[in-house]
Amino acid sequence: MLDRQRQSPVYRFAPSPNGRLHLGHALSALLNSDMAAQTRGTLLLRIEDIDLARCTPAFEAGIYEDLAWLGIDWQKPVRRQSDHFSDYRQALERLKEMGLVYPAFMTRGEVQARVKQSEIAGGRWPRDPDGSPLYPQDDRQRSEYESAELLKSGRRYAWRLDMEKAIEHAGRDLSWMESGDGERGIILADPEKWGDVILSRSDAPSSYHLSVVVDDALQNVTHVVRGADLFQATAVHVLLQKLLGLPQPLYHHHRLITDATGRKLSKSDGDAGIEALRHRGLSPADIRRLVGC
Ligand code: GLU
Repeated sequence: MLDRQRQSPVYRFAPSPNGRLHLGHALSALLNSDMAAQTRGTLLLRIEDIDLARCTPAFEAGIYEDLAWLGIDWQKPVRRQSDHFSDYRQALERLKEMGLVYPAFMTRGEVQARVKQSEIAGGRWPRDPDGSPLYPQDDRQRSEYESAELLKSGRRYAWRLDMEKAIEHAGRDLSWMESGDGERGIILADPEKWGDVILSRSDAPSSYHLSVVVDDALQNVTHVVRGADLFQATAVHVLLQKLLGLPQPLYHHHRLITDATGRKLSKSDGDAGIEALRHRGLSPADIRRLVGC
């Protein structure tokens, strides 16, 4: 903690280039930029493009264009996650060596069928904070030999964290320090409600959870300022930080910008896109007013 206090603050804005930035991103980027300026800290920009199927160089270029137009300045070079898959692989290897991950072979359809079967029989299948059903625990029981045979067979799989073992290893006293727009102070983390989260897939060498904690540590990020939609996911992040021996940043989850129906903006809400608003003649100061920042 002492070291952390001595270190000058490092903030980061970490968008995924799978669409153009909208007003929600503008709020996040402006808050990060303002807080970095107020504390004489540094603002990093990280391109979170591990989903190679949905992220494109054109959207990445759009991010630079929109941020520069908003008047935001960030430290170069930018870290692009797809250039660093070996860092995430190394972290996964560590978790494998600790015996905390297993290869999981059920497809989304198979999981859905299992959930339906259980719900028809009157049971309620547990769901994570985002509403997705928790992954069934069948694959946890497989012997090493059986898993190796399945891996050799070329079936698609994902490496999942065995949440029970992981919590046993890390201990239950997990928490983080929060200064955002909702609950504040020391927040007790309950990663168990996420079940056996995915850490990598055969077609994507890292998951969001794994790469975000590895990068925040490698980039010496001290302050994570992001949308409230990621508040609950922070429980998984602090668990992974503990397991991997990584430092824990301070967290600030800000309010979300919603559309006219009260729903969180998505990249398909073209009207709220920074580029569209710019073309309609709005200025960066208008954007600040619109997001209340
Ligand atoms: N890449 C994430 C997004 O675009 C943000 C991740 C983070 O700030 O931790 O929603």
